[in-house]
Amino acid sequence: MEKKTPMLEVLRRIIQEVNGARNLEAALATMVRRIRKAMRTDVCSFYLFDPEIDRLVLMETIGLRSQAVGRVSLEVGEGLVGLVAKREEPLNLENAQSHPQFLYFEATGEERYSSFLGVPIIHQRRMLGVLVVQQSDKRRFDEEDEAFLVTMAAQLAGVLAHALATGGLNRPSMPGGQARFIGVAASPGMAIGEAVVTAAPADLNSVPDLIPTDVEYEIARLREAIGRVQNEIRAAGERLASRISAQELALFDVYQQMLGEAALSQEVEKRIREGQWAPGALADVVRRHVQYLERVDDNYLRERAADVRDLGRRVLAHLQEASPQTPAVYPDSTILVGDEISVAMLGEVPREKLAGLVSVRGSSTSHVAILARAMGIPTVLGMVDLPLPRLGGNRVVLDGHRGRLFVRPTPELESHYQSLIDEERALMEVLEHEQDLPSRTPDGHDMPLMVNTGLAVDTVASLKSRIGGVGLYRTEVPFMITERFPGEQEQTRLYRDQLESFDPLPVVMRTLDIGGDKDLPYFPIEEANPFLGWRGIRVTLDHPEVLMVQLRAMLRASQGLDNLQVLLPMVTNVEEVDDALRLLDRAILELGEEGVPVNRPPVGVMLEVPATLYQLDALACRVDFFSVGSNDLTQYLLAVDRNNPRVADLYDACHPAVLSAMTRLAEDTRRLDMPTSVCGEMAGDPAGALLLMGMGFDALSMNAPSLPRVRAAIRRVSLDGARELVTETLRLDSPAEVRRHLAERLRGWDLGHLLPPSD
Ligand code: PEP
Ligand code: MG
Repeated sequence: MEKKTPMLEVLRRIIQEVNGARNLEAALATMVRRIRKAMRTDVCSFYLFDPEIDRLVLMETIGLRSQAVGRVSLEVGEGLVGLVAKREEPLNLENAQSHPQFLYFEATGEERYSSFLGVPIIHQRRMLGVLVVQQSDKRRFDEEDEAFLVTMAAQLAGVLAHALATGGLNRPSMPGGQARFIGVAASPGMAIGEAVVTAAPADLNSVPDLIPTDVEYEIARLREAIGRVQNEIRAAGERLASRISAQELALFDVYQQMLGEAALSQEVEKRIREGQWAPGALADVVRRHVQYLERVDDNYLRERAADVRDLGRRVLAHLQEASPQTPAVYPDSTILVGDEISVAMLGEVPREKLAGLVSVRGSSTSHVAILARAMGIPTVLGMVDLPLPRLGGNRVVLDGHRGRLFVRPTPELESHYQSLIDEERALMEVLEHEQDLPSRTPDGHDMPLMVNTGLAVDTVASLKSRIGGVGLYRTEVPFMITERFPGEQEQTRLYRDQLESFDPLPVVMRTLDIGGDKDLPYFPIEEANPFLGWRGIRVTLDHPEVLMVQLRAMLRASQGLDNLQVLLPMVTNVEEVDDALRLLDRAILELGEEGVPVNRPPVGVMLEVPATLYQLDALACRVDFFSVGSNDLTQYLLAVDRNNPRVADLYDACHPAVLSAMTRLAEDTRRLDMPTSVCGEMAGDPAGALLLMGMGFDALSMNAPSLPRVRAAIRRVSLDGARELVTETLRLDSPAEVRRHLAERLRGWDLGHLLPPSD
């Protein structure tokens, strides 16, 4: 190892270079050179595993003959490199030729090298390739060498996986062919259509990188946008001239100068010529300036950072007006793709043209996912490796059941999906016929079905005859669409709409459940562990002014209807319930004094923090009903972030521990004679719903699009059958076994068509 520079520093520099490079192929070339130098060896090579041809291909080398690059390849298990890949562990040999697995490739000229150190590159359990150093003298690479290369490979793995997924590095066998991306399944269903890449309006941080098709056009529209902002600033300066000081007015000149040809615009043009479209180039340049200004030790200059950001936003707004990224006419089957998709963006595409949603960020419970499910739009979020710059205009297949996106699908794949889509549509038509029939089992047990809402009511009001009420109205959803906390009157109107639409059916309104991943744009909560932090009732009790307004609005809205029920989210301690009830009573009293007499509505607690499962008696004497939030209960019981794509495979409401906790819970609430429903996603899954019925819950609340499948399952399985299903699954040890068993039993009941399509 180089003695002067510490290992960590060398590592950091190499990774920085690899990360910063536009082109990963060039970065790999630099990387092998740097590693060779740092380790003072003769050879450093990188072999990429190509699953299409099931071989390791020499992709980059310094020391071996360069003609061998792309030509020499080995099977996994073949030669020393293949052995490293197969065993997935480092191999350190002083005399490589004497190893029984040694294989000589004439093209490489590697016969001269005797020592060999190879380490596998592994990302999320997948072997991506092998990194090798070789030396002609008999050198035993020491522990520090091995540690260095292993660390290098571990760091490289993420970068490499990203580059492979995003097309930054082509696998030898598939340039420009079908590509598959995996994310978190957020709303079921499948769609075939055209990818339309979208960015949030005038948000410099969410502008995607795009390669311009016409550089001159990009420069022309940049100049036009800057010209418009200059005019705006001039006009604003003139309007204010008589009202502000000369010093303040001088700022407007500074703005004009910043926008002038010498500063921003020239730099942005240069960036466009380097291969960025105008919004991306603008965002890059503004970000660089802002970062620089924020770091300098001068108050005046630091303040200018905000100005530069603001000017950047203004120019961006004009660019986006004319942006080809928000087409005036959306394709018939638009698959909307973005870094992050906001509710507003969702509203821009006409519903009949919106076939699917995909985003890099977000998760199955982010608010877009909740809306998408309510609207029945297939959605996959958390697709971290998505190549946004290259996606627009491509044909794609979206699989919202399994969380997949296929770009440029092969004809075979497309027709396979087309037939799955046709089958699903045919099934929904068949199921539609029984939607007005009761959700009653063949042995006469009625299982009330309710809906989860949050959006405008029109989508669900038509369901009134088919449901027992609204089991969960997520009040945070309308709060997310506004630009500030809606006032009491505004909330009263919103809630009145809900209550009237479903009257006389009960509507369970949950008090604001923000925090976790549900942020309000005007009330950001920054925390290291948001799901374990300031969330739900913890926030609203700290802000009684917000909770009081909400409770008053709910009560006001219920006047004369009396179908309101109030639900408290994220309860952990009984004091929280006591405090909330005190506020509720105060709201009732206040309204009475104001001449608005209202009845006290039934109040419920969400059982979603595991602690509540052990305090049921204490909670039961305080409230009128329970509602189980199986989404959060699963997350907290399993210690798996429900939004983290890396652990999405571990998040499963059918984990035996969750099922066993839920069974106990159902028994306990029965003993306490507390009406208890389930409103998490589990209730909307046919197999999950059967289990919950078998456990003995009183009602199931789900997204409206889940109703047909769940009703179909309930109408075909007896209560005894469902109870047996619970007993059988409780004997199983792993989520996979449970899923397998549920699928088998559903097929046995001739309900295989209700299962999500499998591979
Ligand atoms: C739940 O946690 O199961 C639930 C229904 O609430 P939310 O998904 O809004 O957290
Ligand atoms: Mg919850």
